[in-house]
Order: sequence, then C-alpha cells, then structure tokens
Amino acid sequence: MTRDLDQTVFVAGHRGMVGSAIVRRLESLGYTRILTAGRDDLDLNRQAQVDAFFQTHDIDQVYLAAAKVGGIQANNSYPAEFIYENLMIESNVIQAAHRAGVHKLLFLGSSCIYPKLAEQPMREDALLTGTLEPTNEPYAIAKIAGIKLCESYNRQYGCDYRSVMPTNLYGPHDNFHPENSHVIPALLRRFHEAKLRGDEEVVVWGSGKPRRELLHVDDMAAASVHVMGLDPDTYTANTDPMLSHINVGTGVDCTIRELAETVARVTGFPGRLQFDASKPDGAPRKLLDVSRLKTLGWQAGISLEAGLADTYRWFLEHQDRFR
Ligand code: GDP
Repeated sequence: MTRDLDQTVFVAGHRGMVGSAIVRRLESLGYTRILTAGRDDLDLNRQAQVDAFFQTHDIDQVYLAAAKVGGIQANNSYPAEFIYENLMIESNVIQAAHRAGVHKLLFLGSSCIYPKLAEQPMREDALLTGTLEPTNEPYAIAKIAGIKLCESYNRQYGCDYRSVMPTNLYGPHDNFHPENSHVIPALLRRFHEAKLRGDEEVVVWGSGKPRRELLHVDDMAAASVHVMGLDPDTYTANTDPMLSHINVGTGVDCTIRELAETVARVTGFPGRLQFDASKPDGAPRKLLDVSRLKTLGWQAGISLEAGLADTYRWFLEHQDRFR
C-alpha cells in the first residue's frame, strides 16, 4: 500500500474556487501526485473522454469538485444547463472511476439539497423530507443524484465514495460576475465599485432578511481532505449506512443585511444600503447542523470578517480579469 501522500489524486474542477483550494491544500500537506486536466483536454460532459482519461491514468483518489455553479439568478435563468451539466459530470466521473478501479472518491454537493423549509440547523437526515427551494431545484436535484450515485456504487460494488455538503462558500477564485455570482462576490465587487465612484448608496437584492451561513473555501478544502482521510470505520460510525453525506459549515449564520454591513466595512464603503425587493430572497434560512463533522474531528477556523478581507484582497489583485 502506497502512502497517502504518494497516491495519485485527481482533482476534477481544479480551476474552480473549490477545486483550486483543494489543490492548494493537498500541495501544502505534501501530496506529490496531484493530477488535473484542463477543459480543452478533458470535457467532463463527455462520457468517452472521461472514461479514456481514467483508463490512461492510474488514479487512487478523486475529488469531484467540478460542477456548473452560480447564484440565485443564474440558477433561475439557466435551469437546463444546471441540471444537465451537473448530472453528466457526476455520472461520467463516478462511473469512470468505478470502472477504473478507483476505490476512494469525494463528491462535493451543496446545502441546497435540503428542503426549503427544513428544520434549522439542517441535519443530514433532512434530505428528501420535503419540497426544495424552487429557484435552484434543478441544481439541487442533480446534487442529490450525486449523493445517491455514491451510495449506490458503495452498496453494489463496495466502493468508498463519500459526499460532503458545503454551506454557501466564498473565497479566492470565486465568480465575480455582477448578475450571475453568489452574494459575497457580487457585494464585494458592487461595494468596491461604488466606493470608487463615490456613490452614496449600494443596492442589495431582496429584503436583507434571509439568513445564510458562509464558509471560506480554504476551510472547505481542509474539511474535504479531512473527510477523505478518515478511516472507513470512523466515517460510518454511529450513522445509517444509507446516510452517507456529511455537512460542512461554520454552524453560525447571519442576515444578508448583516453580511452587507460587514462587506461595507471590509471594502471601506461609507454609504447607505438600499434593498431591492424586486429581486428574489430565495430560501429564508440556510444553516447546517455540523455536529456530525465535529464528532469526526473537524471544525471551521476562518471568521467571516477575516475571510471577507482575504477574498477582497484576492479580488483587488485580480481585478483586471473582471473588466
Ligand atoms: P442562495 O444562497 O442560493 O440564495 O444564493 P445567493 O448567494 O445567490 O443569494 C443569497 C442571498 O443573498 C439571497 O437572499 C439574495 O437575494 C441575497 N443577495 C443580496 N444581494 C445579492 C447579489 O447582489 N447577488 C446575489 N447573488 N444575491 C444577493
């Protein structure tokens, strides 16, 4: 058996926010064989390409961080792409990994798999107990399918495919598109540009009342590697074998208004907030119960203010990409 650090680890989606953070984390831990593939060399939507890739590389572990992602408006506008691409990527990678004899895989999902009105904080067993939030239902259905793919391959073939469900993530390499991004990059950019123009007001979507839990992507990467590294008995201890996914979050949430006020502080915007009620609020609250992960020995370490400052710094250093 090769040492973990010498195993070949394929990170699918290494250009994305989560995948790139996982690569940084693995490098910092001393992993020597991290395998990545650019979109031009490997289109994860194409089954034959994915299969050929797994047949030609001797892969020991897979982090499945590739996904079609976006904020509330993008999900609402492009539902077909969100369900189709995510189903394709997951199915292709999981089936090809199994066919190539890869024993360990970590699938990255999302907290939107839980019902819109799930009891808060949301426990892992809230999955499939109610109706989903309509704005991102197609995406959520694809992510639920990813969990069920892993469970099914474990059940039928004895694989060790695990799933982690992150809360709302943010950090370096996020998408800063003004309309299609998630709330943190959208607000960092909008407040920054408003400050430069000397505006007195910044528009924040919705009522400001929804509550969100926000996790820095470096914490997510650390949690992912931690979960992948747990020995199989620890991973399944005290849980229903059919409840294979683990929540990853901070366990703390805040209102969108409080978040916007923190972003204003971090970016140095001195003006007022204006809430645009014509934009959707989405789910009223999204807070994960992270007790399972805590029991398994991991908890978040980056505060919201420090995480936002780090993300703002990254944005300032890479602004030319967003013009
Ligand atoms: P969600 O957690 O899936 O709803 O994803 P988002 O990050 O897109 O939105 C989170 C919350 O932030 C929602 O209530 C939005 O209405 C609110 N929000 C406020 N301003 C913005 C913005 O500029 N962009 C986005 N995407 N959301 C915003």
